[in-house]
Amino acid sequence: MPRFTTLFTLKIFTTRKQIQEYLLATGSKTIGFVPTLGALHNGHLSLIQQAKQGNDIVICSIFVNPTQFNDPKDLENYPRPIEADIAKLTAVNCDILFNPDVTEIYDGNEQWHLNIGQLEFLLEGEFRPGHYQGVTQVVYKLLDIVKPTALYMGQKDYQQFMVVSKMVEIFKLPVKMVMCPIEREPEGLAMSSRNVHLSAEEKQHALILSKTLSWVKAHFDVKNVYNLELEAMNMLQAEPGVEPEYFEIADGKTLLPANENSKTIVALTAARVGKTRLIDNMLMM
Ligand code: AMP
Repeated sequence: MPRFTTLFTLKIFTTRKQIQEYLLATGSKTIGFVPTLGALHNGHLSLIQQAKQGNDIVICSIFVNPTQFNDPKDLENYPRPIEADIAKLTAVNCDILFNPDVTEIYDGNEQWHLNIGQLEFLLEGEFRPGHYQGVTQVVYKLLDIVKPTALYMGQKDYQQFMVVSKMVEIFKLPVKMVMCPIEREPEGLAMSSRNVHLSAEEKQHALILSKTLSWVKAHFDVKNVYNLELEAMNMLQAEPGVEPEYFEIADGKTLLPANENSKTIVALTAARVGKTRLIDNMLMM
């Protein structure tokens, strides 16, 4: 009996012209799109796997977008292991990698401002001014190039999902938003490209983020929101090497403080662990 092996090749495009010509030639197919900054881990790969289940073609972009970094040092230090990323994308049978240079995306003379209301200034927006303008700017450009059927983004960046959903609504973009669950290390730390900057000791201290979120979830029905937030901040502050920026229990739609009419409630937190800034969140209901 002959044995057939499907040899899988990841197609890599670096210009918008290349990828658009390729997509035009393949005809009408459903496209699942997973935009990333690279330094891929299982969190990213879970998005690709979910996209593969619902679409004919899956495109992952790797683009370290300068306009969403408010800290130049963070941009400079952002990990860029492109060869390892290509191997990971190949292993999960991703169809296309779009990996443009900055000059392919920006012509150096751009204006962008999108009114997304209070979502821009809350939580992450307060600590990373301008971040969501940069995010919406690049996601708009990428959607315009790829024209996907569905956009897969992680719950890990909960506020980012809300911001991009708002943009999709404002421009009435014909794309389905899909939120994928947070992938965690066995001990609970949310996977993040920034985790490579943590020392072994810092990684242990960083567990306090997911532990605190789990503790709050476990006590959600028996304590009030004010006390839960207070105790959560105390737990984070008490951990050596951890400096919390916020811990908020918010309405899952508006991200304003949760109230009795909230249909979904999410607790969100950000903290510095040593020099590394981490975020995490958990649905309470
Ligand atoms: P990034 O490369 O950090 O911009 O992330 C690209 C996408 O992967 C975003 O939609 C993130 O929300 C998602 N993502 C990052 N970390 C995780 C994780 N631990 N679990 C699930 N999705 C994630």
